[in-house]
Amino acid sequence: NEDHFKKVVSHAKEYGYVFASSEIYDGLSAVYDYAQNGVELKKNIREYWWRSMVYMHQNIVGIDASILMHPTTWKASGHVDAFTDPLIDNKDSKKRYRADVLIEDYAEKLEQKAQKEIKKAKKRFGDDFDENEFVSTHPRVVRYREEQKEILSRMAKSLSAEDLKDVKALIEELGIACPDTGSKNWTDVRQFNLMFGTKLGASAESATDLYLRPETAQGIFVNFLNVQKTGRMKIPFGIAQTGKAFRNEIVARQFIFRMREFEQMEMQFFVRPGDELKWYEYWKETRLKWHMSLGMGEENYRFHDHEKLAHYANAAADIEFNFPFGFKELEGIHSRTDFDLKAHEEHSGKKLQFFDPEMNKNYVPYVVETSIGLDRMFLAVLSNSLEEEALEGDSTRTVLKIPAILAPTKAAILPLVKKDGLPEIAEKIIEDLQWDYNVAYDEKDAVGRRYRRQDAAGTPYCITVDHQTKEDNTVTIRDRDTMEQERIAISELSERLKKSISF
Ligand code: ATP
Repeated sequence: NEDHFKKVVSHAKEYGYVFASSEIYDGLSAVYDYAQNGVELKKNIREYWWRSMVYMHQNIVGIDASILMHPTTWKASGHVDAFTDPLIDNKDSKKRYRADVLIEDYAEKLEQKAQKEIKKAKKRFGDDFDENEFVSTHPRVVRYREEQKEILSRMAKSLSAEDLKDVKALIEELGIACPDTGSKNWTDVRQFNLMFGTKLGASAESATDLYLRPETAQGIFVNFLNVQKTGRMKIPFGIAQTGKAFRNEIVARQFIFRMREFEQMEMQFFVRPGDELKWYEYWKETRLKWHMSLGMGEENYRFHDHEKLAHYANAAADIEFNFPFGFKELEGIHSRTDFDLKAHEEHSGKKLQFFDPEMNKNYVPYVVETSIGLDRMFLAVLSNSLEEEALEGDSTRTVLKIPAILAPTKAAILPLVKKDGLPEIAEKIIEDLQWDYNVAYDEKDAVGRRYRRQDAAGTPYCITVDHQTKEDNTVTIRDRDTMEQERIAISELSERLKKSISF
């Protein structure tokens, strides 16, 4: 799996998906640039999210708020006082870690051991295997799972204590070693604020301290009443937004999984007080369905219900994805109560209430939010799609089986040879398709090599112009995943692509 992850990272670079930021200066830690293919994949994920959230729900609208906000926003939201992560240093290696992540990784290893046992048994028992029965009776699996649960619940408890002493005690008791050097010589655990500060104004004296937003949600809360009034929205309704967020993460690792500058896709859904848990369940299911619709394997998703709740929440769950380094948070669904709107009322002195005509009264709505990291979704798609596929004989091919609807380039148009008028026909096909689809032209090397190149870049279709095209206006269309080819009329190409890859 570690191997697979390394392949994903190098493939992302080699095929123009992700580059390290300012690479000629050796990069900047946990900051990345999206390259020519990456920008398309990212745009398509964002678009798929936006259409499913905003266009598919008549009571959800979008906004695009600023990254810079009035500094009181972050006082009110609790970020100035409480947006911290527990930090621990290793005294020997002088390396810095997030204490909770060290413990979570330890717990995840226990889960991986359990999964190994399950896999082994599956192989041994074949069709007779009853997984539920096995996991509830097999002594080692039961022990791994129980231990894992206990560790996570002890961690939640010790993290909520003011002094964080028990967090360090737990790390020592579990014998967790520094992942880089193996040393177990830890400092005390302390809180570290993750917000990036900056200044507004020209002169040092008059400058105001600002923060780069650490989440997009607050831009929605402060605009709640503006949108409600101008959009004549009735509760329940939602506001959606995609945009950059910044966090000075303590350990930035795992490629684009944890970045210092990243993009979120969030939706805040405003509901009647008392209805929030019903909507919380609704959005958990709806968001899981969205993930499933991409066909990346149901077994690769699971819910993780939070035991330790953030200061603003009364229920919270993550949708976790099976990344190459284990199951990790991809999206959060949080029931945020009226915490944020009430806090903004208090700090701004402005009412943020809705007059409910059915109830004939004013109230501060409750909020259920769905929050997904666009870059994390990108990593989920990329790592799930990359395959080294064995072919007949000894050969293999590298293929990026990105869901067609998200693929950067939808089709490559290939003249079989660089003469006999075939390139001209290919150019004409491109002219017909390029407004609706991102298509590419490739005439270099033998057609087999070109197919391989497109497979590795994730292009779902290759359209080949050959000598028969000149006689009957047909081309072959090759499917990336099945490698099957079919002859169809040029006039049918657009419809054909539309069926499988348009939004
Ligand atoms: P984590 O526990 O992994 O730090 P979080 O619980 O702090 O994440 P939220 O504040 O709930 O995350 O943010 C919502 C989503 O934003 C996450 O589910 C994740 O997909 C994404 N996200 C958060 N932090 C980062 C980051 N540093 N880099 C990339 N994506 C991130």
